[in-house]
Amino acid sequence: MTEEKLPVVVIAGRPNVGKSTLFNRLVGQRRALVSDMPGVTRDRKEGDAQLRGRMVRLIDTAGLEESAPDTLFGRMRASSESAVAQADLVLFCIDARAGITPADAHFANWLRRQDRPVLLIANKAEGQAGTNAALEAYSLGLGTPLALSAEHGEGIADLMGEIADRLPDAPRAERGGRPGEGDERPAGPLRLAIIGRPNAGKSTLLNCLLGEERMITGPEAGLTRDSISVDLFDEVGPIKLVDTAGMRKRARVEEALERMSVSASIEALKMAEVVVLTIDATLGVHEQDLQIARLIEREGRACVLALNKWDAVVDRGATRQAISDRIETSLAQMRGIPVVAFSALTGAGVNQLLPAVRRAHEVWNSRVTTGELNRWFEDALDRHQPPLVDGRRLKLRYMTQAKSRPPTFILFGTRAELLPEAYKRYLVNGLRETFHLPGTPIRLQLRGTK
Ligand code: GDP
Ligand code: GDP
Repeated sequence: MTEEKLPVVVIAGRPNVGKSTLFNRLVGQRRALVSDMPGVTRDRKEGDAQLRGRMVRLIDTAGLEESAPDTLFGRMRASSESAVAQADLVLFCIDARAGITPADAHFANWLRRQDRPVLLIANKAEGQAGTNAALEAYSLGLGTPLALSAEHGEGIADLMGEIADRLPDAPRAERGGRPGEGDERPAGPLRLAIIGRPNAGKSTLLNCLLGEERMITGPEAGLTRDSISVDLFDEVGPIKLVDTAGMRKRARVEEALERMSVSASIEALKMAEVVVLTIDATLGVHEQDLQIARLIEREGRACVLALNKWDAVVDRGATRQAISDRIETSLAQMRGIPVVAFSALTGAGVNQLLPAVRRAHEVWNSRVTTGELNRWFEDALDRHQPPLVDGRRLKLRYMTQAKSRPPTFILFGTRAELLPEAYKRYLVNGLRETFHLPGTPIRLQLRGTK
């Protein structure tokens, strides 16, 4: 069997500019050693990353300097030569805080002669830092520098797009969302909150998702004073974990017993687009879990139900059924909610979580055209006539989707505001099934017309 040949992307630059940090960012695993000491021995690292839907092989040239010639440039060149020779793209990194050094300039000269596509990266440019160096970097003759911060995760989504665009025969990179909704969807990472009762395994899940080396950032603008956020990446792009109770707990280790704090959950919900409601599957669905789910519904967030501690569940079939039944009967608005079962402790099944989060995010962002909507609506009215109110039948005229995030519809009609709950539910359930909107809150607003 032949292995499919992946495009090769080589990360090059002098020691300590942040190559390994960038590698870890892109590969999405944080197991590699990152050190402040230049020239610390490290193995040559290769990893595969999916950027805008394309798999690439990344090579980090950091740490190859040891056996090489004596000057810094000589070492850089020796360490990079073989890697650069096979590169489809070279990411040449400079340290925007340190500015352009002679070694950078030398290496750039050499690199220009290698006749490989190069993307110039000005790293450590978090905030406004390194703007000067980024401008100065034009002088290297390697095109427009891309300023970013590997450590803080700034500019990484852009970088992924730039890389994807430069790969050989890159299919047109898809930007933004689907047609018609791109203008609504803010750019930037998907915002995710992991919430649940104490001991559900939120911290363990967080560790599992992030790997051992966690990066805790913040406080940042827009988050409450003592909230924290963490960035991670999947194949689609960046995900920002916001204000997670498990993180608070980690930040204040002395907090021996964390009480379920509804107000903290509300804060986290408001920050998030998608919420992973984590429950301890060995205990089944608790009333507090339902309370949290109602909060998620009320705040209009997309939700994924995570059944954790699946390793410790004896009868998995029965447990899953019992949990689904409880959710379906107690939470009409969460009908069809995506359910993922895993063990945060062993890691088994956790890889299903982020794909489910992405799908939930898509559903939450869904748009239905007015044409489709009203074809369905007429049909729905035919099947069940609108009810009589005070002896007169309500005249429902048409519907339109006002917005997504969550999907929100407006129903126009004479005295539409008097529509009974049961009929509203009928319409909402129909919308959910027909337009495939499982597990997302659906809003239906009524507008009376003359
Ligand atoms: P390498 O030798 O080029 O692989 O560099 P490393 O990835 O080991 O990073 C060297 C140092 O720079 C480490 O202390 C990192 O934490 C730090 N670093 C990496 N990226 C950034 C960044 O975006 N901003 C800042 N301020 N520091 C960074
Ligand atoms: P949190 O309060 O929600 O952050 O929960 P923790 O992550 O601190 O986990 C609570 C307890 O459950 C700890 O003793 C974990 O080791 C345990 N735990 C977490 N995930 C799992 C799992 O998947 N399986 C099992 N058997 N135990 C787990």
